[in-house]
Amino acid sequence: MRLPGPFEITRVVDLFHPFREPSFLFPDATPEAFAATRTSKDARFVNIADCKLIMSFHSLIVRTPRNIILVDTCVGNHKDRPALPEWHQRTDGDYLRNLAAVGLAPEHITHVLCTHLHADHVGWNTKLINGRWVPTFANAKYVMHAKEVEHADHAQCTADANARHRFWDDSVQPILDAKQALIVADDYEIEPGVHLMPAPGHTPGNIVLVLDDGKERAYLVGDTIHHPVQIERPEWSSRFCWDAEMSRQTRTKFISDVAETGAWVIPAHFAPPCAVQIVAAPGGFWFKTSAS
Ligand SMILES: [Zn+2]
Repeated sequence: MRLPGPFEITRVVDLFHPFREPSFLFPDATPEAFAATRTSKDARFVNIADCKLIMSFHSLIVRTPRNIILVDTCVGNHKDRPALPEWHQRTDGDYLRNLAAVGLAPEHITHVLCTHLHADHVGWNTKLINGRWVPTFANAKYVMHAKEVEHADHAQCTADANARHRFWDDSVQPILDAKQALIVADDYEIEPGVHLMPAPGHTPGNIVLVLDDGKERAYLVGDTIHHPVQIERPEWSSRFCWDAEMSRQTRTKFISDVAETGAWVIPAHFAPPCAVQIVAAPGGFWFKTSAS
């Protein structure tokens, strides 16, 4: 699926389903508080029958004249994630077939960008071949922020230390061992008009990919914003944020900065149409999509 907006961005899905009730992801989202939001009535983003948040776990592929950049690698197959039943030892992921369906083989990818190092953003970094984890994208540099790698042992990188250790061993360390990691700082530029912007809080080195053609901008924000309801309620940080207060501040400032600019905001887990433009609304912010 090609996303709306001026840039050539394609969505490749790993997992797409009603995920959990709002309070699982956002501790502040009590049933009453969630029911008071506009988003709670939007069937694109909420499964109205059981009030579960609809979440997409997808990669975003940015094609530029020079590069094919794959942003975030989702959950993956065959990964040990005992704390997360839907992610544990999957064999049903159609991810590589979905990639082929948009005309790409893994070898075509020039850069894999991990917005942050969490289990649902590094899963297809590797695949299991003869009992060994090997890089899925053989010709790619895997771009990771230095702070993410430095904080690998940070106790709060994720709420589930077991899941963290397992994903590091099966999805990050093999990339470091294969010497395909490109460890970068805040201001890294992949090519002119394609650069990083720090957005700390969800994790220490959480980053946003900025596309800027001189006229228009798109921000691939990863988990800086998990779900559309956070545009109305930017103060709701997720339970998986490393520093909930910093995450809140980063998200609130970002939303305020891009509101009414026409820039496209493309998070890692928004259901289709996946990309929104943030607008001012009475008392806060709202969003529009190409269909609204
Ligand atoms: Zn995520």
